[in-house]
Amino acid sequence: MHAHLVTLPGDGIGPEVTAAAVDVLKHVAAHHGHDFRFSEHAIGGAAIDATGAPLPDATRDACLAADAVLLGAVGGPKWSDPNAKVRPEQGLLALRAALGVFANLRPLKVHPRLAERSPLKTERLKDVDFVVVRELTGGAYFGAKTRDRDRATDECAYTVTEIERVLRRGFELASQRGRRLTSVDKANVLETSRLWRHTAEQVARDYPEVHLEHQLVDSMAMLMLTQPSRYDVIVTENLFGDILTDEAAALAGSLGLLPSASLGDSHGGLYEPIHGSAPDIAGRNAANPLGAIASAALLLRHALGLEAEAAVIEAAVEHVVAHGPWTRDLGGTASTTQVRDAVIAALDLD
Ligand code: ATP
Ligand code: MG
Repeated sequence: MHAHLVTLPGDGIGPEVTAAAVDVLKHVAAHHGHDFRFSEHAIGGAAIDATGAPLPDATRDACLAADAVLLGAVGGPKWSDPNAKVRPEQGLLALRAALGVFANLRPLKVHPRLAERSPLKTERLKDVDFVVVRELTGGAYFGAKTRDRDRATDECAYTVTEIERVLRRGFELASQRGRRLTSVDKANVLETSRLWRHTAEQVARDYPEVHLEHQLVDSMAMLMLTQPSRYDVIVTENLFGDILTDEAAALAGSLGLLPSASLGDSHGGLYEPIHGSAPDIAGRNAANPLGAIASAALLLRHALGLEAEAAVIEAAVEHVVAHGPWTRDLGGTASTTQVRDAVIAALDLD
């Protein structure tokens, strides 16, 4: 297969973890006879320094023309002055808008070794394997805002089209996985949630093989901690998803391991580890590259349909989580490049 992949290393540890993920992709591609062309572009603080803009036109155009985009991280203390006119994070928001991505997927599997590091009782984490699908384009974050001296408002709006397209992603994913979809809302008080729930019931007719259940977000916040192994695919709106995905990350016991995918209808999507730019450890070959490497696996699965290759990478990542070498965040002393090499050595390429 031919594919053109754009990499956006970004800031902090972004370049280090992205380079590791690209090395892994190159190994898998060479072995399977795929022709992946990589081109690297600037985003975030690095792009502000180079061009003045957090998403230069050249970067945006290259991403639009690519089959998929692999991003490291953006942001850092150098660009975090609250009075600054341009901020690195604007680059990421503009890129998401340009690519038309509306569904953010965050798979979570808790490895037995990580269960020890989680705040939860280990036995509750056995068999945890779910994906949170968060709507990315609507809701309170993007509604009209007003502010007077003693009153402020944030409009929360959703159209049926916005709700339906992200729910379909959830149903499709569930039908390929464990066939259970949990739709999260606050339908006892919010009108947008009532529309969400009604739409979920309508869309469910097209996916008779998937079992749909509704959960109120407050209960969901508790159930995710008390019965996490019950869930397969969880789909929810923007604000609830923001909160629940952070909760899910805490469950896993480490930020450095978790990947994400942002998907739309007309582009292969944007893939990135969920951690930030980690300026405290940047430039020291100390960052855990496994979240970026797992994001590359999601890219193969969702953008290119290369399921077997994605599974090979995920198995190699699991092997390294189980047996090491580990970076500091997992209690080891290994470097980014040592972990990368261990993943490459663990790739079962036969
Ligand atoms: P952002 O606002 O960009 O999301 P943040 O402040 O939420 O950033 P991170 O940059 O993700 O957080 O860093 C949080 C902590 O986790 C830091 O101490 C950082 O060193 C650590 N960390 C994050 N990612 C990794 C990684 N890949 N490997 C090792 N440690 C990491
Ligand atoms: Mg953060």
